[in-house]
Amino acid sequence: MSRPALFDLDGTLVDLAAPRDDLEALRAGLRALAEREGVPLDHFGIFPMYRALSVAGRGVAEARELIDSYEVRWARATARALTSDDALGRLLASGAPVALVTSNGRACVRALREAGLLPGAFPVEITRDECGLLKPDPEPVRRAVTALGDVADGDELPFVGDSKADREAVAAYARVWGRPPVRFVPVREGTGAVEPARSIDAVLADLAGTS
Ligand SMILES: [Mg+2]
Repeated sequence: MSRPALFDLDGTLVDLAAPRDDLEALRAGLRALAEREGVPLDHFGIFPMYRALSVAGRGVAEARELIDSYEVRWARATARALTSDDALGRLLASGAPVALVTSNGRACVRALREAGLLPGAFPVEITRDECGLLKPDPEPVRRAVTALGDVADGDELPFVGDSKADREAVAAYARVWGRPPVRFVPVREGTGAVEPARSIDAVLADLAGTS
């Protein structure tokens, strides 16, 4: 029997592999949008700028449209799967109570599925489009845990992710809600986690009970 779990997307299950020129153009577009909307920025990363617009409640629809257009392009053109031998496909096909918790948009998730880079739908998918605030805010984590419902009521839920924002979102969830407990499982070094990083394939095998 598969255990419930939460998964980040980019850098964990797939690598969108955004080209540097695209990233620069997207950052410039968001910065120009924030200036037009009079929203002050203290960080020029894509998601921090989106977060500033969200908090201000200005230019959000335009920002979503702009980021979606790039993410969909990456999903179709540059992305690659980070899992091997269809372990994720088997986990999804088994009906495992798993959730996707991503700062990418629904359009990106759909495009990845169409490109064959995500082997099926997760029972719960929390994307940028479902949330007011993105990770490292705890909102996406809480929404996913709530949507999993009763299956999440037992043991500690692993949150499998590759970034500091993932780790911080889990820590913030623990401070604000705490139950059911969620544990950050890193698949990359450099997240600030105490726990050593493991490969996504090893984590998937564990969850499926095949390791
Ligand atoms: Mg990630």
